[in-house]
Amino acid sequence: MATYSLSPVSAGRPKASDTTEPPDGQARVEYRLARNAVVEDVRRGRLTRVDVCDAHPELLRAARNVGTATGEDCPICEEAVTVAVTYVFGARLPPGGRCPGSARELNQLRRRDEPVLCYDVEVCPGCGWHHLTRKYPAGGRSARATGRR
Ligand SMILES: [Zn+2]
Repeated sequence: MATYSLSPVSAGRPKASDTTEPPDGQARVEYRLARNAVVEDVRRGRLTRVDVCDAHPELLRAARNVGTATGEDCPICEEAVTVAVTYVFGARLPPGGRCPGSARELNQLRRRDEPVLCYDVEVCPGCGWHHLTRKYPAGGRSARATGRR
C-alpha cells in the first residue's frame, strides 16, 4: 500500500481500520466523524491549532493552485473556505503522490492501466488545517469494473 506522507489524519485519534477497508460510504462517514472529533477537540482545548494546522507546504501549494472550493468555512479558523485536493499514488508516480492540476489529468490518472490509490483531502489554505475525506482505488481492473457511468 502506498504511504501517505502528508498524513492528513495525523492529528487526533488514530483510526483502527487498517486491516479491513470499510465500504466507501461507511468510510466517508468514519472520516467525517474523525474530522468532527478533531474539530471538537480543538474547540474544547484538548488540541491546539498547532496540533492540527500542520499541512505540508506542498499540500498548501496544491490547495492554493489546484484546489476546488468546498463552500464550507474552515471549522478551525473560520476565516477561510476549505478546498478539496486529490492525491494519487501508484506505480510510476512520485513517492509523495501526484496532485493532478486539472480534472482532466485526474481522470487520466484514474483510468490508468496500473491501479492507483486516490486520497481526497480537505485543506484550509488559511490556517493549514487538513483532513482526509475519502480514499479509494482507481485505475487498473477496478476502473474497468466500475468505469461505467
Ligand atoms: Zn482554517
